[in-house]
Amino acid sequence: KLSKRLQYIMEQIPVGSTFADIGSDHAMLPVAAIKTGNALSAVAGEVNPGPRDAAAKQVATAGLGGKISVRLGDGLNVISPGEVDVITIAGMGGGLISTILEQGIDKLQGVKKLILQPNVGEELVRRWLLDRHWVLTSEHIMEEDRKVYEILTAVPENSGMVTFLNEDVYKEYYLDSSNHGQVKITKEMSVRMGPWLLQERNSIFTSKWLSEIDKLERILKSLATSTLSSAETKSEEIAQEIQQIKEVLSCSP
Ligand code: SAM
Repeated sequence: KLSKRLQYIMEQIPVGSTFADIGSDHAMLPVAAIKTGNALSAVAGEVNPGPRDAAAKQVATAGLGGKISVRLGDGLNVISPGEVDVITIAGMGGGLISTILEQGIDKLQGVKKLILQPNVGEELVRRWLLDRHWVLTSEHIMEEDRKVYEILTAVPENSGMVTFLNEDVYKEYYLDSSNHGQVKITKEMSVRMGPWLLQERNSIFTSKWLSEIDKLERILKSLATSTLSSAETKSEEIAQEIQQIKEVLSCSP
């Protein structure tokens, strides 16, 4: 059975897609997506032989060798341009996800949708999408086994495939810095926290950022007793960061 996280990711794959799952590990996602009919065929990419073998075994057991191609290679090297229309990259840091996308940028031609689930460093993914003209079309935050996950989807700008729930919100929260009540949500904070998540502000989002504040406050405390010469500057930076997050959380959507 798929985890709630992978299930959500799978549901973002448009029915009838051909997709590549990069860093597929046990190929759980491709196997499930073919079984449900969300995908017609898939590539399961893995950089490490261990997980690649696990993926191959899983695919063979499911009898899906004709539909899922398991390939060993780094990032998007496993696909050729135009081969897939959707790419999923899940369960890695945002830094690694954006590096994989950047290094494989020539493979993104013809790709209609990216479904990305960074474990940490979500802002690096949002920044990459923004810089490379991919429109962030949705964000979802969820909790499973006490871990919080964010799942981002994006489509190429000017592709005619941008289907917004609310284009004004996107522009207001993300492309421009905006005024909500007395408080300004800067683009930087929007990229950090997520424009759609900021708009929705559900309880998981709020508790994620409250625990981020807790963490930063603990760092601040330990810096107060530090003798390092850089401690003061660092403390100021962190205090400002805490202030910014608090301001964003305190303003109404
Ligand atoms: N995508 C699955 C999920 O979300 O459950 C598995 C996530 S697992 C934690 C991360 C996988 O990414 C590992 O199996 C690892 O070998 C693979 N990986 C790491 N860097 C990679 C890269 N540059 N290219 C392809 N796979 C990579």
